[in-house]
Amino acid sequence: MAFDSLSSRLQMAMRRITGKGKLNETDIDEMMREVRLSLLEADVNLKVIRQFTTNVKEKALGQKILSGLNPGQQVVKIVFDELKRVMGDETVGISYKASGMTVIMTVGLQGTGKTTAIGKLGAFIRKTEKKKVMFIAADIYRPAAIEQLMTLGKQLDIFVYQEGLIKAQTIVKNGLKVAKEQGYDVVIIDTAGRLNIDQEMMQELIDVKEIAKPDEILLTVDAMTGQVAASVAQSFHDQLNTTGAIITKLDGDTRGGAALSIREISQIPIKFASNGEKMDAFEVFHPERMASRILGMGDVLTLIESATQNIDEDEAMGMMEKMLSGNYNYNDLLKQFKMIKRMGSISKIMGFMPGVAKYKDALNNVDDKQFDKMAVIIHSMTEQERKNPKLIEDSSRRRTRIANGAGVQVSDVNRLRQALDQQKQMAKQMSKMSESDMKSAQKDPSK
Ligand code: GDP
Repeated sequence: MAFDSLSSRLQMAMRRITGKGKLNETDIDEMMREVRLSLLEADVNLKVIRQFTTNVKEKALGQKILSGLNPGQQVVKIVFDELKRVMGDETVGISYKASGMTVIMTVGLQGTGKTTAIGKLGAFIRKTEKKKVMFIAADIYRPAAIEQLMTLGKQLDIFVYQEGLIKAQTIVKNGLKVAKEQGYDVVIIDTAGRLNIDQEMMQELIDVKEIAKPDEILLTVDAMTGQVAASVAQSFHDQLNTTGAIITKLDGDTRGGAALSIREISQIPIKFASNGEKMDAFEVFHPERMASRILGMGDVLTLIESATQNIDEDEAMGMMEKMLSGNYNYNDLLKQFKMIKRMGSISKIMGFMPGVAKYKDALNNVDDKQFDKMAVIIHSMTEQERKNPKLIEDSSRRRTRIANGAGVQVSDVNRLRQALDQQKQMAKQMSKMSESDMKSAQKDPSK
């Protein structure tokens, strides 16, 4: 999961102090040493680390007592605020033109995931803004790049304007004309990427910029390259005045050095995060939520958003009521599996929950395939059995029949029974848990 190693190290440093009723300068120095090491290991830029640790220390020593938080928790809050600050504080979205066509030019080194990000961004804008999107294929140095974009366009049902390998400026000029004539709201332009930054490439981008007069110039940066991403971002920004970054491959980045360095070093706000090879693995970059995830405080907001995008609210409410009523059966469990699948993988969902970081090892054993297996077992039950779990509890013959029907062991059927019991237990706990408990769990990762 993104930021895993940084997250565990920082949380370890925080755990030392969260319980403390009093903190002296030595405690803070010791914690800061750990924080510094965590950031170094995460490949965060040195300048950023220096500023980070200076700010945290200053604030920690000068802190006033806030009601409801012990000194340790207050320091965690300071670290949280600082993490948020280095990632840009505020969430910054796309600036769409108030009227007329919005032009987005994308730039980035080859292999950073630019083409993939264009597809994702197009699908995202269409889904969230209900805008009509078109792509222009102007990466003219690699025929494969045009093909790749055409394939994505076909897959997403987004029109791709292309003229083959002629001059990029000409393609862009003609493409924009077509887009305007056909009433597109947003045009996303793909441009040439090279393995390294060179002046020829920059000049072409500058020329394309001149013609396209883009409202946004978005740079894709590969999270896996750590702080190098920040210096690449700076070079692009110096020449093109980029308006935002899309940080890609965040799913494979356990360290976080890129996300934590880009904003401070290049001044470019990170606007989106691309975190997987699938087209919907793309999200708005929220510094606050990222900071919360890094400190293991969960990211309930992202989870809720994903739920509302993929799940019908009435359906979710119905499920919740059903769980709380205690009248929960195998049909409900099956529905719940389906809902979870629509939201993404179970481990991804769990990663967003507050306090769950502690159970990381256990979570790694939660395999999405197990869900499929459990679904097959439920399908092997009669409708009566699904509605009335007690029938299965009371009869080992039924359990054997179900196992045989599903091609699994009886122990698998028993595991499913346990899963149903756990859901019932969880429902009980949930009905006890008040909103304020949820809030304090979010504030204090040690809970
Ligand atoms: P481009 O050369 O910059 O256009 O890069 P591509 O879009 O072709 O991506 C390069 C490789 O990275 C491809 O294999 C993509 O599938 C992969 N990729 C792109 N974005 C992501 C991402 O967010 N996560 C992961 N894991 N892989 C990605």
